[in-house]
Amino acid sequence: MDTVEYDLLVIGGGPAGSCAAATARQHGLRTLVVEKCAFPRFRLGESLLPAGNRVLQQIGVWPKVEAAGFVPKYGAEFHRSDGSGEKKVVFSRSLIPGLDRAFQVERAKFDSLLLEHARECGAEVRMETAVTSLEATADGHRANLVGPAGASTVRVPWVIDATGRESALTSEQKRTLDPSPFPKRMAIYSHFHGVARAAGPEGGNILVVRLEHGWCWLIPIDAERTSVGIVTSVQAFRAAGASPQVYFEGAVAGSPKLRQLLRRAVPVLGFQVTSDYSYFRRDLAQERLVLVGDAAGFFDPIFSSGVYLALSSARLAAELVGRAHAAGRPLTAREQRRYTRAVKRHAGVFQRLIAAFYDDDAFDVFMCEEIPWDLKPGLTSIVAGHADLTWPLWWRYNVFLTVCRLQRYWKIVKRPVPAAENSADQALPGQAAH
Ligand SMILES: Cc1cc2nc3c(=O)[nH]c(=O)nc-3n(C[C@H](O)[C@H](O)[C@H](O)COP(=O)(O)OP(=O)(O)OC[C@H]3O[C@@H](n4cnc5c(N)ncnc54)[C@H](O)[C@@H]3O)c2cc1C
Repeated sequence: MDTVEYDLLVIGGGPAGSCAAATARQHGLRTLVVEKCAFPRFRLGESLLPAGNRVLQQIGVWPKVEAAGFVPKYGAEFHRSDGSGEKKVVFSRSLIPGLDRAFQVERAKFDSLLLEHARECGAEVRMETAVTSLEATADGHRANLVGPAGASTVRVPWVIDATGRESALTSEQKRTLDPSPFPKRMAIYSHFHGVARAAGPEGGNILVVRLEHGWCWLIPIDAERTSVGIVTSVQAFRAAGASPQVYFEGAVAGSPKLRQLLRRAVPVLGFQVTSDYSYFRRDLAQERLVLVGDAAGFFDPIFSSGVYLALSSARLAAELVGRAHAAGRPLTAREQRRYTRAVKRHAGVFQRLIAAFYDDDAFDVFMCEEIPWDLKPGLTSIVAGHADLTWPLWWRYNVFLTVCRLQRYWKIVKRPVPAAENSADQALPGQAAH
C-alpha cells in the first residue's frame, strides 16, 4: 500500500478525462489520471463535431489532431430509408464562423493521442489501473486503486469522474438519474470495407439513414473502413427474435438506401451490441467531485454529440476545480448547481433535436431542404454542435421546433412520395462504386 498526494485525481482516460487533465495542468494542478484499460482500445463515437474543435484548441492538442491523418468531415447527410429524400448539412454554411469541419476518427487512435497529450502537459498517467472504490474524507477523497503493481491508495482534494458509461464505479450520486425522455434503444455495429462513398470531400460526411424502428450510421474512419451501426428499439429487437447480426442484415435488406450503400460491404470486425445508453445523472457536482462526459450523462448518438459534450463538460469542470483550488475552498452549492445546469442546457439542445428526429412529423420538417425564414443556417450550426443558443440561433431553433409541433396538425411540409424500390438501387451521382 502506498499513499501519494496529488491535487486532482481524474478517473478515466477517454476524451473527457484527457481534456480535464490537460485543463487542470493549465491551472497548475498536480494531476493523476488512472485508466483501467491498456490503450489503444476500441470505442464507439467516431464522428466528431466542429464545435469540439475549440476545446481541442484550448487544451493545445488541435495541431496534433490535425496532423494525425483523420478523415476530414465537412458535413452530415440524412436519408430516408427508401431513398426518397435526403438532406445535406454543409458545416461551412452555418451561422457561426469557425464550424467548417471536424474529423471522423478511429477512437482507439484519437483517445491515445489525447491521453498522451495530457501526459505531455504534465499529468501523471497510470494505465491498466482501476479505481475500485472512492471514499469521501473531510478535505477530499481517498481512492483505492488496483494496477499492475498491485493495490494502492491515493488521497486527493479533488476528483473528476470521467469513467464513461460502463463504469463499475458507482456512488449514491451516480445512482440518482433524471427520468429518461427516450425509450430503451440499442445499437448493433461493426466496421466494414467496401461501403459506397461519394467522391471528393463529401466522401468524409457522416451518413444517417432513418429506418422504421431507428436509424443507421455510416462513418468513414479511414480510406478503407467505414463504421456502420443500426440503432433500434430494444422492443423491436426482442420482437424480431433474431441474433444481432441477422437483425442487422434484415434492417439493411429492408432499406433500399442501405442496400445501395452496403451492397459491396464486407464486415471486418465481429458484430457488437450496446444497449440502454440514454440517461442523465441528476446532480453532476459535489463540493469536491465533478462528473464529466458520459459519466454525467448521454442521450443518443444521432447527432454525434457525445465527444463534444465530453470535451466541453470536462473543460468546464476542470476550470471550476482549478479556480476553487486556487482559492483554497470547495465548490460552492451555487457553482455545483450552475455546472449541472450548464451541462444539461447544452445536452438539452441536442435532446430536442433528437426527439424531433424520432417524430415522423418533425422529421419531415427537419428533412425539408427549402425550410423558410432563414432557419437553415441556424439548424446547420446546431447540427455542427454549437449548443450555445445566442439570440440569432435561439429564435431560429425555437421557430423550427414550433413548426415541428404544428406539423402534427397542419402538414406544412409535404412528405415525399416513397421512391420506387429499384430507383434507390442505382448508384447516386458522385458516388464511387467500390
Ligand atoms: C451507439 C453509440 C454511438 C456513438 N456515436 C458517437 C459519435 O458518432 N460521435 C460522438 O461524438 N459520440 C458518439 N457516441 C458517444 C461517445 O461514445 C461518448 O460520448 C464518448 O466516448 C464519451 O467520452 P468519455 O471520455 O466520457 O467516456 P469513454 O470514452 O467511455 O472513456 C471512459 C474511460 O474511463 C475508463 N474507466 C472506466 N471506469 C474506470 C475505473 N473505475 N478506473 C479507471 N478507469 C476507468 C474506461 O476504461 C474508459 O477508457 C456514441 C455512443 C453510442 C452508445
